[in-house]
Amino acid sequence: MEKASETLRTTDRVAAVPPKVDVACPLCGADRYVVRFPDRFEGRPLDPDVHYTSTSNAYGQHGRIVKCRSCSLVYMNPRPHQQSVQDNYAAVEDTRYVEEEQGRVETFTESLEHLSRFVPSGRLLDVGCHIGTFLEVAESAFGYEVSGVEPSRWAAAIARERINGSVHCGPIEDAPIVEGGYDVVTLWDVIEHLPDPAIDIRAIFGALRPGGIFAVSTMDVESWFARIMGRRWPWYMQMHLVYFSRATLSEMLRREGFVIDDVVLHTRRVRVSYLISRLDAYAPFISKPLAALARRLKVADRTIGVKLGDIFTVIARKP
Ligand SMILES: [Zn+2]
Repeated sequence: MEKASETLRTTDRVAAVPPKVDVACPLCGADRYVVRFPDRFEGRPLDPDVHYTSTSNAYGQHGRIVKCRSCSLVYMNPRPHQQSVQDNYAAVEDTRYVEEEQGRVETFTESLEHLSRFVPSGRLLDVGCHIGTFLEVAESAFGYEVSGVEPSRWAAAIARERINGSVHCGPIEDAPIVEGGYDVVTLWDVIEHLPDPAIDIRAIFGALRPGGIFAVSTMDVESWFARIMGRRWPWYMQMHLVYFSRATLSEMLRREGFVIDDVVLHTRRVRVSYLISRLDAYAPFISKPLAALARRLKVADRTIGVKLGDIFTVIARKP
């Protein structure tokens, strides 16, 4: 019962229980699927600070997950209503992310080194820019002319303070985006949260100039790590609505007019103490002694690269 009390912490900022909607396949539109995992959310009250933060620990709590019989896309069905998803992201605050920022800076520096080989300079738009970590590195260390879009009011306010460019608070479809006005658009660990990602990809295609680059990262539901972990794969979560593979994401990008230039596995740099804390939900009997050991060896604050092969980045080009 103690465990439940954490997730039952209701919030007065948004509706407690998300209204669900049945959806067709977000990639091919078919409505024939096999159930991969049953609903494990079961009408719990939803707290954006628990279920919608990028450092969320609410593993194993998710709606029903299905796989399309026609195109193999894995997605949540039914899923929360789009408006409730938007309201939750508008309300979310994630102070844990700020604490873990050093690892993100190193991760984004590596991403930018890769990205700058395709487009070394110009106007860059980061969709779902959160507190502006990526934009700040892109602007100060790589010289891009940056701007961002971010649904969380809390995160957008922080991002605005950090960069010279503008940050629009709200979903991308409401953002004042200049048609053909960008050389690069990035979408880091965001696409899996979008109720209908093809719509957002279409908007991004419109925002890019011909020859412009779209960099998008997400987790790979068909990776060996996901297969081995089965239902315990940590990315099965209520906030993740679409579970791409390299094949299904590439297919959606091609359908929206993009050409695929590169697909790379992603190395994520995190603090040792953070990595160990992520084990808590799975194996507290391992994480507790590991945390003590890391402190004794004075490595808890060091960052290390994690590459489980289940996060990938696609570099797509507008012809
Ligand atoms: Zn499909």
